[in-house]
Amino acid sequence: MRTKLVAGNWKMHGSRAQVQAWLMRVQSVLPDCEVALLPPYPFLADACAQAGARIGIGAQDLSAHAAGAYTGEVSAAMLAELGVRYAVIGHSERRAYHHEDDELITAKLERALEQGLTPILCVGETAAQRACGETQATLAAQLAVPLHRLGTRLAGMVIAYEPVWAIGSGQSAEADEVQAAHAFIRSQLAATDAKLSLMTRLLYGGSLKPATAPELFAQPDVDGGLVGGASLDAEQFLAICAAAR
Ligand code: PEP
Repeated sequence: MRTKLVAGNWKMHGSRAQVQAWLMRVQSVLPDCEVALLPPYPFLADACAQAGARIGIGAQDLSAHAAGAYTGEVSAAMLAELGVRYAVIGHSERRAYHHEDDELITAKLERALEQGLTPILCVGETAAQRACGETQATLAAQLAVPLHRLGTRLAGMVIAYEPVWAIGSGQSAEADEVQAAHAFIRSQLAATDAKLSLMTRLLYGGSLKPATAPELFAQPDVDGGLVGGASLDAEQFLAICAAAR
């Protein structure tokens, strides 16, 4: 049985006071599912100190290097020292704006695993790839290097299926489309290891809202959600969590 996880990716939004207020509100409800907050780097230390055991704090990225002369980078060890539990890796915005490729993403996965962080690996096709019928080929390509290099070391990781065209667009993917993509991802994992396929939690992300969450979370291979815009509002986030039972 996979426990559902709902994670809020704040991207480059929010303030210290907003993080504090959000955590207080979410702590006052304590949803049935597992909950994670992924605030910007400067707010991680305070968030970890405030969150307690029931809310996992995560980073939105980390360095592919363990340590060294890499100005501006933050290592997995530094995040682990703060008490950070999750690290988003390979978000489509980082793939697009920072030219992250599958090799770099695999190095980041390895750094996270070395420090006991749970990676949330993001995969998903663009609108053009979808229009050409290349959704499965895109997902297979994005999973190939991590699975080949790291194999069963990826046990415990989380994968977020985030169709790029759905992110921030207000248009969530249809439930049957999401289920098909998740089943395909699970089949790719199964080709490496049956247990890995069964235990890996697959989140859906892309304009997830309280209205769309129940049908998406009811799909057999959807184990929760990665929520961007709607997670900034604690009430909307909690309403999405309520659908994740
Ligand atoms: C995201 O960027 O991870 C995301 C899911 O964003 P949104 O919910 O705003 O589409």
